[in-house]
Amino acid sequence: VDLPIHDAVLGHAAEFGDLPALVDGTDGTTLTYEQVDRFHRRIAAALAEAGVRKGDVLALHSPNTVAFPTAFYAATRAGATVTTVHPLATAEEFAKQLGDSAARWIVTVSPLLETARRAAELAGGVEEIFVCDSASGHRSLIDMLACAAPEPQIAIDPVEDVAALPYSSGTTGVPKGVMLTHRQIATNLAQLEPAITAGPGDRILAVLPFFHIYGLTALMNAPLRRGAAVVVLPRFDLQTFLAAIQNHRITGLYVAPPIVLALAKHPAVAQYDLSSLRYVISAAAPLDAGLAAACSARLNLPPVGQAYGMTELSPGTHVVPLDAMREAPAGTVGKLIAGTEMRIVSLDDPDKDLGVGETGEILIRGPQIMKGYLGRPDATAAMIDGDGWLHTGDIGRVDDGGWLFVVDRVKELIKYKGFQVAPAELEALLLTHPGIADAAVIGEYNDDGNEVPHAYVVRQPSAPDLAEGEVAMYVAERVAPYKRVRLVTFIDTVPRAASGKILRRELRDRP
Ligand code: ATP
Ligand code: MG
Repeated sequence: VDLPIHDAVLGHAAEFGDLPALVDGTDGTTLTYEQVDRFHRRIAAALAEAGVRKGDVLALHSPNTVAFPTAFYAATRAGATVTTVHPLATAEEFAKQLGDSAARWIVTVSPLLETARRAAELAGGVEEIFVCDSASGHRSLIDMLACAAPEPQIAIDPVEDVAALPYSSGTTGVPKGVMLTHRQIATNLAQLEPAITAGPGDRILAVLPFFHIYGLTALMNAPLRRGAAVVVLPRFDLQTFLAAIQNHRITGLYVAPPIVLALAKHPAVAQYDLSSLRYVISAAAPLDAGLAAACSARLNLPPVGQAYGMTELSPGTHVVPLDAMREAPAGTVGKLIAGTEMRIVSLDDPDKDLGVGETGEILIRGPQIMKGYLGRPDATAAMIDGDGWLHTGDIGRVDDGGWLFVVDRVKELIKYKGFQVAPAELEALLLTHPGIADAAVIGEYNDDGNEVPHAYVVRQPSAPDLAEGEVAMYVAERVAPYKRVRLVTFIDTVPRAASGKILRRELRDRP
């Protein structure tokens, strides 16, 4: 695994030659492995000719397209560090990331060009903006394919050089730039590989964004390294998503809990032929076992498997192997991957290790731990202790078979009169109510100064009359008194990050 990431992924491309590597899920445009390999080398040459130097930061600002991976690997081959940008970021948000990462180059797509231009203006320091598709006074990646310059021979040190600088989701604070070296990303790919056996003939649907570490790994690096076809969709829209599964005979889905929810509950699912699917894997946020079971039963599939990780871990540490999906206990996020250590420690005393079945904070040590947060040594030191253990901020327990269960985040626990309530547990319970389409729970201080669970609930269209009291009662009948939902508010949609996480701070900030 001591290879630069483009070689770790595309080193096998010649073997896969004319097989489809990337397919546009809406118009069918296809790039073969041979093309991705050749194109990324040409574009790397053109980037070098344009002035991109080793260590420069290049911001890749694009929804999922067939060109995205080519742009990514071209940039790393030219020696750049790629910082991936949310395609819906405002110019101000994008400018912040450009400034924070000191980016010198931008690769964008023509519909986002105006935002990229404004961001570059606001941030300063950007040398040039390239456009993936068509030019508009800017050099395009398509023009760059004609570059006659020799391929750049950049000496990359996989151990030290930062390949990617994704930003964490910002669920718990400001998004932080996470420095991941070539070796960290490549190591984690190899660690996850035995569990997930996609290969030639498999067709993976990339509906989660490539810019987030989950999509970057599970939907781009991993399937392209193994010769699978990656069918890309620029955003999640249920009908388009279902049509893509049907029309492209998708074999595997890597999704987040909101999509599992849609697959389990949405009436539209029944209108499509989803029989090509062999498995569904969910990660990035807590998934209730009941919901997972409802989804797999409806699709007539093995139980939905989970994976667990975080940007700072390149990103995966746990996964339910495909061949163990039937025997894995319900609700588990999987088993620890090879070459990685885990401890569960007491929430009150991080020096106290807990045993099987006991719930505490998850600590991880391994070669895939980030190099650090960019420009935030204090935040890095707060996360990784002197012995190399990364404190995840997540709460979990392990059963006697070694399966990990994630309860929630330490920061999101609601402390009611000395008791701890996990919002994820209440959310899962709320979703079992037939009149509830979606739900999020946050802690909120009531008039007596107690932190109490406040449920934000989206009604099913079929249950327009569902009342607050009925929701509170439904929960009260099923949980210990300290876990009762004390406040209920109906909303139209639950705010979520692109990675599927509930943005609880947006609910907190509601007027
Ligand atoms: P920030 O660190 O900026 O607040 P974030 O932690 O949401 O944002 P990510 O790195 O995208 O950013 O997400 C990692 C987190 O996602 C984990 O710490 C964990 O809380 C959650 N997570 C990932 N997989 C699972 C899973 N299978 N079950 C429950 N939670 C999960
Ligand atoms: Mg985090």
